[in-house]
Amino acid sequence: MGARRRVGEAARTSFVSASRPKSELQSVTERCAGCSLLTEGGTAGCRKLFEELCAREWDNPISYRVHRMMVDAYCLQHPDEYCATAKSFAAHLTGMCCAIEHKSHPNVLRAVQQWLSGKAAVEKPPLPARRGELTLMQVYREQDPVPQMLAVNRWAQSTWNAYSALHPLARKWIEQAMERPASARRGPATSAR
Ligand SMILES: [Zn+2]
Repeated sequence: MGARRRVGEAARTSFVSASRPKSELQSVTERCAGCSLLTEGGTAGCRKLFEELCAREWDNPISYRVHRMMVDAYCLQHPDEYCATAKSFAAHLTGMCCAIEHKSHPNVLRAVQQWLSGKAAVEKPPLPARRGELTLMQVYREQDPVPQMLAVNRWAQSTWNAYSALHPLARKWIEQAMERPASARRGPATSAR
């Protein structure tokens, strides 16, 4: 994560920087194409904030559940970059469903991960254009672990609500993962990545 995957965007940035002084470019406030956050640098600026958030965790370790919710919320709000394939989308949508509806139960997470690392046939549906009222800024503003954790919860819930049309699909995928015979689920402990 964090790799600059959008060649077109990089090309556009270098084109712009050729025609504007650097200091001016840095102060340009634009809307992020993923989550609509108005921030310096638009989409790239939003990604930088997320990377800062992830780095901040090393100082204030938060639980895997909260970390996972944060990553799923960010990825669902920026699907062009982080949900490019049907499987990556399914991983983040089911991850969020698991957090909200199954309290991030490890058995559910494990079953879904194993299902996705196998031959799960998933298709990517059309995604919502509006992806939630809240953005990572909710979390970014908070400095202390507890308010930060509560903000992650609010952000995750708001993102999940924005995907309401796809809740039945998320539940169906989790059901399929859980219904696999135990023998199919045991297999070698390979991760989805
Ligand atoms: Zn964004």
